[in-house]
Parts: sequence; structure tokens; C-alpha cells
Amino acid sequence: MPGHMGAERDRTGDAMGATDARDNGAGGSTGNAGETDAARVARRDEAVRAAVGQGLLGADAPIVALLDVAGIRGSAAALRAAFDAVVAPGTPVLHAFAVKATPLVPVLRLLGEAGIGAEVASPGELALAQAAGVAPERTVLDSPAKTPAELREALALGIAVNADNPQELDRIDALVRSAPSGSPVGIRVNPQVGGGSIDALSTATATSKFGVALRDEGAREWILRAYADRPWLTRLHAHSGSQGMPLSLMARGIAETYALAEEINRHVGRRQIDTIDIGGGLPVNFGSDATTPTYARYARLLAESVPGLFDGRYGLVTEFGRSLLAKHGTVVARVEYAKSAGGRAVAVTHAGVQVATRTVYAPASWPLRITAYDAKGHPKAGPEVVQDVAGPACFAGDLLAVGRALPLLEQGDHVAALDTGAYYFAHHYAYNSLARPGIYGFATGGVGGGAGGSGVRFAVVREPQAVEEIVMESGGGHASALSAL
Ligand SMILES: *Cc1c(COP(=O)(O)O)cnc(C)c1O
Repeated sequence: MPGHMGAERDRTGDAMGATDARDNGAGGSTGNAGETDAARVARRDEAVRAAVGQGLLGADAPIVALLDVAGIRGSAAALRAAFDAVVAPGTPVLHAFAVKATPLVPVLRLLGEAGIGAEVASPGELALAQAAGVAPERTVLDSPAKTPAELREALALGIAVNADNPQELDRIDALVRSAPSGSPVGIRVNPQVGGGSIDALSTATATSKFGVALRDEGAREWILRAYADRPWLTRLHAHSGSQGMPLSLMARGIAETYALAEEINRHVGRRQIDTIDIGGGLPVNFGSDATTPTYARYARLLAESVPGLFDGRYGLVTEFGRSLLAKHGTVVARVEYAKSAGGRAVAVTHAGVQVATRTVYAPASWPLRITAYDAKGHPKAGPEVVQDVAGPACFAGDLLAVGRALPLLEQGDHVAALDTGAYYFAHHYAYNSLARPGIYGFATGGVGGGAGGSGVRFAVVREPQAVEEIVMESGGGHASALSAL
């Protein structure tokens, strides 16, 4: 895929959008998919041009990250519409954004205003959600390694908690005995339906570290007893997937979780489990601008394969991360030097392992599309040449793309790494003490009509990191600590 991906620039997304047209857009209400995707591409081009034109990106700021505010709002609306279309009227549904995917306070606030809560998995993520103003009743705490202090805080705040394992449930037992809590509590199960194409992201393998392994000997019996003994245990949670998982396998994981909820409620003789948390994990198409699969398609698939889940007897929680943000983020970097080595053209840019860690270390699993822009930020035309797009870090493998066909990149041009709104630039990796780039949200269509990108408005999401901060984070305040020992 990486080989031919660059060759087709796919600026419109038409070809791929056409195959899945009815799945695009916000639940069908905002027109067809191709249109939505093409509009996003046009906004992206305009924002790149404006970032150069307005000086966010330049010789002294050779890398920035951009977030498309309209795109994020559109995805949030599409998610809500997709589930609204399949659940019985009045069913409580909480879409909790997996903060891990894009841990940025203004993003969490924007999503909160769009009706999306937060799924958190560490004290830091919880603090971000709180800083964004996400209410405790719209927050869910999952994580495989919660400390007693984290559990105590979550239960005191009334945040929903999913216990990962029997030892954690013991801790929760002790806490709820000592102080009553309004938190809905559930158990995370691993339906063990199998993994996808990326081992590191497959959460439903037989030996996954997450949740109670449902098919292991004695596990089902233990779960039935755990619920029978604890009338306050009212939720059941599974997250079978992430990038690389086929939808059918994710649906099977959810079907097994639903079947277990039914069995538990039969066993205890009442509707004790009132809410099922189906996790996130909808994969993202990194191969073109088409939004596939869509939330609408996934929700329909679930409604067909697990109809009982949507008939109103259960409230629902979802935990999507990557699929809400990926396509709305773009890293743009200057080409500092253009050189040639062994007959291969190499563009040395400022975007590498520090912003695209997974792609650099595991390129086969995480290929990224790269587009070329000229010095002014206009899409670069010209015959395509096979070239490498390198990052700034001092190791040979710091390459965003290898052997990619693109218009020949020259010094002063720009490259954009697309679909990087989740798990990329917000996940800085401090190799070579490279600074965290500034992140800016953008909105198009303002006064000025877009000539030269002047109609684009930017807002700071995260300031570029100053070298003084790097020094302080690197023990700068303890310079003589070792000498004194
Ligand atoms: C990572 C994670 C998610 C989100 O996964 P995406 O692939 O980003 O949608 C949801 N729930 C849990 C428990 C997770 O660990």
C-alpha cells in the first residue's frame, strides 16, 4: 500500500467515496460522502496555504500541526446520528471520546460541546477531561493498572469505572464499603474473539492483557458470581479492537458481550446490568481521503448482528478515539534540504519520529499519505519522482515515507503528513530533544474569502515548545544534582 499510495494523490477522494457513498456524511443529513470528504480536502489545502501566508509556518517555525474544527464537529455529529438512527427512542447513549487518541484540552472541550464525553485511562487523562469541563457523569475510567488512589478519586467524583480484573474488583469492594459512591461500575471482559492485522493494537486475543478473559476456564462462572454478589455492579464493558480489526470481528466481540449481559441478568433474576459499554476501535482509512468505514455503517452492522443491544433495554456507552480525530489533523513541515543519495532523491524535513513515532518505527503497519506543497503552501504540481521523505532525527530510519512517488521536493517546499489527528502529533516523542510543534485549530470561510488563505482563522491549541522548557523538562533545575552525590 505505501508504494502506490503516494502515486495517487487522491485530492478528491472521489474514486473511493463512490463505492461507499451512502455511508458518508453525517448520517445522511449533510449530503453524500464524497462531498464531505472533498470539502475537507479543500479546507486542508486552504489551511496549509494560510499557515504559510500568515507566518505560522516558516524558516523559524519549520513544523506545525493543524486541526480542522469543522471536520471534528462533523465527525462528532456523524457519530451521534449513526447511533441515534439505530437505537430505540429514549435509549441513553454516552459517546465517550478515548482521550488517549488526542489528549488536548481544547479538543476535549470542542467535543464536549458537540455532546461527546471522555474515556480516560490515567490520572493525566482524567485531569485533561476535567480541565476541559467534561462532567463526571460523562466520564468513564478504564485502564489496566488503576491505583487505589485513582479508584478512590473516581468513585468519589461519581465517574463510571470499569474494573479490569478480580484484584481490582476487590479494591473497589473495599472502597464502596467505606464510602458509598454514585459511580456506575462494570467489569471489562475480553471476549477473546481474536486479533486484527496489528498485534500491538489487538485487545481481544486469547492472551490480551485487558479485562477478564471470558473463555478461560472458570471465568464465566466467576463473572456470574461477581454480579450476583454485588447488586451495584450494573455495567459490562468490552473494547475488542482498534486499527486493523475487521468490523465483523468487532461485532462478534460485542455480540458475545451482549450475550453475557443477558446471561448475567437471567442468572440474577433481574435487569441488574443496565448499560453495555461497547468500547471504540473503529478503524481509519489511511489510504485515501474517503471516510470509510463510517459510523453509520458500523452502527447498522451492529444493529443487524446484535439487535437486542438496541431495543431500549440497555443504555449504551461507546469509546471511539482514532475515528473521531484522525482525518482532521495534518502535520506540515518545511523541506530544509533536498538531496540525493545512491540515486535516490531525499527530502530532509522537520517532521519525523517526534510526531509520527509509530509510522517511523513500524512503517508497514502505519503508512501515512504525504502531500507536497510549494514554498507558498500551494499544492505542488509536476511529474512524480520516487523519493524518500525524511525527518530531522539523527538515526537512519527516521523516514516518514520511503520510495514515495511525489512531485520532486525542493528546498523551501513543504510536506504534509495526512490523517495525523489521532496518535501522532499529540503524542510527542522527545528524541534528539526535538521541540513539540505548535498545534493550531483552523476555520475557513471567514472574511477575505480565502484569497491567499486570508479567510482562514487559526487558534492556538498548544504553543510550540520553547527550548527553555526542554531544558527544564530535562533536569535543567537540577544541573548539579549528580555532582553533589
Ligand atoms: C484505546 C481505547 C479506545 C479507543 O480506541 P480507538 O481505536 O482510538 O477508537 C477505547 N477504549 C479503550 C478501553 C481503549 O483502550
